Amino acid sequence: MQFESSERSGLSRLAAPLRHVFRFALDVALPPLCPSCREPLGDGHGLCAGCWAKLSFIEPPFCARLGIPFVYDPGPGLLSMEAIANPPAYQRARAAVRYDDVARTLVHALKYQDRTDLAPAMGRWMARAGQELLDEADVLVPVPLHWRRGWSRRYNQSGTLARVISRQSGVKLATEALRRVRATEQQIGLSRPQRASNVQGAFKVAPERSADVAGRRVVLIDDVLTSGATVGACAHALLRAKAAQVDVLVFARVVDTHRAPI
Ligand SMILES: [Zn+2]
Repeated sequence: MQFESSERSGLSRLAAPLRHVFRFALDVALPPLCPSCREPLGDGHGLCAGCWAKLSFIEPPFCARLGIPFVYDPGPGLLSMEAIANPPAYQRARAAVRYDDVARTLVHALKYQDRTDLAPAMGRWMARAGQELLDEADVLVPVPLHWRRGWSRRYNQSGTLARVISRQSGVKLATEALRRVRATEQQIGLSRPQRASNVQGAFKVAPERSADVAGRRVVLIDDVLTSGATVGACAHALLRAKAAQVDVLVFARVVDTHRAPI
């Protein structure tokens, strides 16, 4: 028999109806549940140990520019074909995990279910993945929501993650530096060129905030990197406002497993 935390094995010994009542009482007393499997969380890691083990953390070797993991190590500083063929506006991108089912559950719980209790763990994993970027950074800028979407969700999940990373790393935060000046369609279901044109010109550095980014090394913070269109458009806006350099740090990135590594 596998060893479990005393709380979980205690629960599993209870009869089903009683367990239900007990679980309900537990939910009231200890609100955090694992967002992926709904087990109560004992240790506040954001995910239970079982789901945590299923998360696919991105480790070296990866493309020095895009952070896309390599299947084998081509040597230090080597770039992926994608980085060479289609270099992004930003300098480097790093992600804590691959965007898979468990990562998606975490992102959705933070974004749509008000699970702000997940932000500390997610932010810590991001700070670890982005250590190299954060060591050189002057300022963190979260990708903004359009105000209407920000209102309906009540808060900006990228801003929440950026706050945790700022506390972890000591890098200062400029929450208001970047503004979404044009409403954009949801990127879901759009092709790569459609995604790029959808967000083109959608972001701007507010003139009264230009001192936050001019001459500074910026790390742009977002929850998920899919095609890179959104962070690309943000990086363009920051560079237009004279940012010295823009790097990107996300919680999860889509990794195309069908493509050759280099
Ligand atoms: Zn779980």
